[in-house]
Amino acid sequence: MSQYKMWIGGKWVDAESGKTYPVFNPATEMEIAQVPLGSKADVDKAVAAARKALPIWSKKSQGDRSQIVLKLAALLRENAAEIAKIDTLEHGTPAKRAAFLAADTPGWFEWAAYGARSLMGHTIPVSPDTLVYLQREPVGVIGIITPWNLPLLMIFQKLGPALALGNTCVIKPPSINSLTALKLAEIIEKLEIPLGTVNVVTGPGRSVGEALAAHHGVDMIAFTGSSETGKQIMALASQTVKRLQLELGGKNPVIVLEDADVDVAANGMAKQQTSNSGQICGSPGRFYVHEKVYDEFLEKFTTAMKQFVVGEPNDPKTELGPLVSAQHRDRVEGYINSAVAEGAKVILGGKRPTSPPLNKGYYVMPTIITGVTQKMKVGKEEIFGPVACFMQKFSSDDEVIELANDNVYGLTSWVWTKDSARGMRFANQIQAGTVGIGQGRGGGPEFPWGGYKESGLGKEGSLYGILEFTNLKRVQVDLVPSKK
Ligand code: NDP
Repeated sequence: MSQYKMWIGGKWVDAESGKTYPVFNPATEMEIAQVPLGSKADVDKAVAAARKALPIWSKKSQGDRSQIVLKLAALLRENAAEIAKIDTLEHGTPAKRAAFLAADTPGWFEWAAYGARSLMGHTIPVSPDTLVYLQREPVGVIGIITPWNLPLLMIFQKLGPALALGNTCVIKPPSINSLTALKLAEIIEKLEIPLGTVNVVTGPGRSVGEALAAHHGVDMIAFTGSSETGKQIMALASQTVKRLQLELGGKNPVIVLEDADVDVAANGMAKQQTSNSGQICGSPGRFYVHEKVYDEFLEKFTTAMKQFVVGEPNDPKTELGPLVSAQHRDRVEGYINSAVAEGAKVILGGKRPTSPPLNKGYYVMPTIITGVTQKMKVGKEEIFGPVACFMQKFSSDDEVIELANDNVYGLTSWVWTKDSARGMRFANQIQAGTVGIGQGRGGGPEFPWGGYKESGLGKEGSLYGILEFTNLKRVQVDLVPSKK
């Protein structure tokens, strides 16, 4: 078992309290590490370090900063095998997927480094006597608070642009998956950057996260997590009117029209439903299938769901590993039980595997629930597991658009039709940050990602995601002397 330290002001330190907490392997339920139990005192130290580094880091030329961010991407790639192992160990990510993620996600630093070098300013033609120009500046100290579901990616999406644009950062990783963030700090230690440019404070959201969100020395919070926590952060951040970027929950509708290619739709959606064992904000949340193809789609989707291999994360055949923790497994099972209690039917899965070795570890089998209504708990709330909810059949476009929009979230969505123009008419009416017409392939830094409604504020990725980490300043210059 390993004993970890936090990374504050360019030093490896224990929590001020001296306390630690355990981290577990979700596939074996064994304790794998002790991590410092940070608190407000540690956040104060980290914010002070980040503020001290800010004038030095922000005054470097854009070219120099981008070179350093590119170096970070290269170092992460060099260490990809080790990072992937940690992801599998602490998160239960199947080894093949962990290797892909560790090799792919450093691309977020490349995007940020090049994007930051491509920014240009504007002038506003007010009058011949006045020059008005706009310039971009770093926001300042950024508090980065991330969830456990993709421990690396969630940090990279924010840290890349924050650093490249001249901000300094205090990262608060998820308590149960903080080892990847500490590995990142080990890699950052090799960079020639001012001490305190990046800090990692481990510990609970209730103390470390809240202290960061409320801190007077923090200028912006970049957060991914549940909408409930997002609202708490908004309230805390309002005390100092901080800039916020919030990537929150989803209950994403899948609309299968009667002219869809049912085979492609069923296979594609089953894959999305089980990716990362369903622990993805952009997972399908509600299936609305036209009455003419409902039976055929459900049958093909069920067949596809049965084909995924649930197994130990280190087995190369494994496609679905365990859920991240006993608490989360219990939460997902609670949703399945509530569906049954409210009158829905579990037609696949819904149970833990019983035979060894999967009787240990936090596994939930791919699950399908039918007869779900808009009012049921599973019809409204995010489950965050490999659980598909089939809602009522529909017969008209207007009806299904109303049903799809009848939810507090607005993160992503899918429309399956062979008629692209019809799909685009749906896209105009769906209240979500992303609409896939068909699979909606393509993720990554080139694309803006972010929700409508209670799914969040702001965008990650694309030029929009870079600009989030800048302040826009207007400068007005008198070109002729002002009259008295
Ligand atoms: P949580 O909201 O529980 O936690 C997210 C982070 O916030 C963790 O680091 C947590 O710390 C911290 N935190 C918890 N409470 C507070 C608080 N009061 N103040 C400040 N920080 C706090 O989310 P989960 O980790 O459970 O992640 C799952 C959620 O994330 C889902 O709702 C999912 O949809 C969402 N998500 C959204 C994405 C998007 O792009 N829109 C992408 C991925 C996930 P600790 O770990 O110590 O509890």
